Amino acid sequence: MKTTLINVDDRIKEAYEKDRRVYPCRSNRASNIGHPCMRYLVYSRKDWQKKVLPPVDLLYIFEGGNYIETLAIKRLEKAGFTVTSQQRDFEDQKAGITGHIDGFIAFPEAPEEKYPLEIKSISQWGYEAINSYEDILRSDKVWVKQYPAQMQLYLYLSNKERGMFYFVNKQNLQGKTIWVDLDYSYCEGILRKAEEVNSFLVSDEYPERIPYDRDVCGNCDFKHLCMPEQNNPSQIQFSENQELESLLNRREELEPARKEYEKIDKEVKEIAKTAPKDNIIIGGWVITRKTTKGMSPAKPQQEWIRTAVSIKPLTGNSDE
Ligand code: SF4
Repeated sequence: MKTTLINVDDRIKEAYEKDRRVYPCRSNRASNIGHPCMRYLVYSRKDWQKKVLPPVDLLYIFEGGNYIETLAIKRLEKAGFTVTSQQRDFEDQKAGITGHIDGFIAFPEAPEEKYPLEIKSISQWGYEAINSYEDILRSDKVWVKQYPAQMQLYLYLSNKERGMFYFVNKQNLQGKTIWVDLDYSYCEGILRKAEEVNSFLVSDEYPERIPYDRDVCGNCDFKHLCMPEQNNPSQIQFSENQELESLLNRREELEPARKEYEKIDKEVKEIAKTAPKDNIIIGGWVITRKTTKGMSPAKPQQEWIRTAVSIKPLTGNSDE
């Protein structure tokens, strides 16, 4: 007698569905604090019970990432490196930040020198796009945007000057290292950000929404709280306005150009900020830097310095 076949895929999915849960969030997690939306960070602390349950597909990806982490450590050890203190916990009580690091790596040539190690499994596209720390800083992927803060906090909290990302391509399991130097001013910004999150915990207030960003808001675990109108059928109007639809389509087409413009604009301004002189004339362009200083009205002892950069064609017609 033949056994009745069961649907194996569904059986696996059901097993994983039982594992779907949200965990209490009683601190600012190092892996999360680099998120670009302050409102999201405050929801993560105040409303963690209302976070959407992770879909089963995401649980598969997390599980795959754990296997890749084990594989990466074995690979590093095979090459003679030592990986210690795996999943060691860190805490900054003042800013309410916690985290646990993938480990510390040491070279056989200098075993006493240990560097924070963070292993990331990443898509083929992400793997190709990331070849330096600057690429990580400039990434428009919301999960990659959070890597710099995580590593900088591990460096800061473990009192180390340098740490290492080991990226593994999920498609072909190739690996690459990216070294990161401690950036004190970046860390200070993250600590201030954490303190700002904490300040919302003692009030009913929430920070403002960021302008809608499909990559960030579209993947947000709290968008049902933040934008309930998008989840409430009684608040949805179906429209056949063709002009509006073609504007939306064109808007979507222009999105990559906008991102490239913003990236280049930022790079130009960074160069201008560190130039030896306030004015640069190059080709048909003039770049002007203006630095303003003042005292903070809230903290009279504290001076602020702001540097503005403007870019104009040499003809004198401003482009911004
Ligand atoms: S939906 Fe967007 S604005 Fe609202 S919390 Fe999430 S990321 Fe922030």
